[in-house]
Amino acid sequence: MEAPPEAGWARLKLATASICGTDMHYYRHFANAGFYLDHPLTMGHEACAVVDDPNGADLAPGQVVAINPVINCGRCERCATGDINMCATKRFPGSATTKPHINGFFRERFDFPARCLRPVADDLPPDHVTFAEPLACALHAVNRGGVEAGMAVLVTGCGPMGLLATVGAHARGADVTVTDLKRPAIDAAIAVGATTGHVLGDDGIDQLSDRFDVVIEASGAPQAYNQALDAARKQGTVAILSLIQPSPVPIDLHRNALKEITSIGSILYTHEFEDAVALIESRSVDFEAITAGRFSVSETAAAFALMDSGDAVGKVLIEGA
Ligand SMILES: [Zn+2]
Ligand SMILES: [Zn+2]
Repeated sequence: MEAPPEAGWARLKLATASICGTDMHYYRHFANAGFYLDHPLTMGHEACAVVDDPNGADLAPGQVVAINPVINCGRCERCATGDINMCATKRFPGSATTKPHINGFFRERFDFPARCLRPVADDLPPDHVTFAEPLACALHAVNRGGVEAGMAVLVTGCGPMGLLATVGAHARGADVTVTDLKRPAIDAAIAVGATTGHVLGDDGIDQLSDRFDVVIEASGAPQAYNQALDAARKQGTVAILSLIQPSPVPIDLHRNALKEITSIGSILYTHEFEDAVALIESRSVDFEAITAGRFSVSETAAAFALMDSGDAVGKVLIEGA
């Protein structure tokens, strides 16, 4: 007999999960952003699930839920102000930042705190709902960067996070330009709201200098930070959405000073998880255009191989049975 879920946790069946850049770092290096795994664990923190056993929570079996993977403490000063991403004792599945580690969502069934589950309409495709967590991260960077309607915004890098930043900035009414090394990734960005795209290397980026109110760095390439400082207008803002890994690349801090650029970090999200679910519920985003492939849980290795190939445009999804 399987043990029942612990108090306050519901038992879930995976509907759809998606692979994050963070998962790829653990896959390749057993580490991410300087955090090393203590032991092997199941990865995955982006998912949509179906309630199997509510375990006393106000949820019905069969209910489809978006999962907010941030298990904040709910008691500290930061939690009181809603800044759950700053909670010092928050826990996060599939991550070396949480010790002991909590297994993630790339499996058929798992338990998770009921308070982290957000019910959604049954007819909302789970393949779209799994975007809630990464979209929330992107919306947080959009908010941290102060993106407003009518602003000129540059998103550097059209990986999944850059694409979702494009979705968020476009939803905010900004005029979005994107850069990437690959044309198909730029085409995907245009499908979800970018106005203009530049293939780095082909088009040249001189024309991008000093133009943008906000630059959202989503490529993760350390040198892209210097390009972002160049592309921002005087007194503009550079918001770092990507998790730039520890690196010895020199940073052009003189540009930061001379142009009075506000350079701002962004990690996870606060109220943006709810905003992301609402945006998915609006059914206004073409998530199919930013879905690279679909795999079953038993094909997770192939899903990672596709991500690892660098050929995927958009999110790679892992679907439950
Ligand atoms: Zn993620
Ligand atoms: Zn807390």
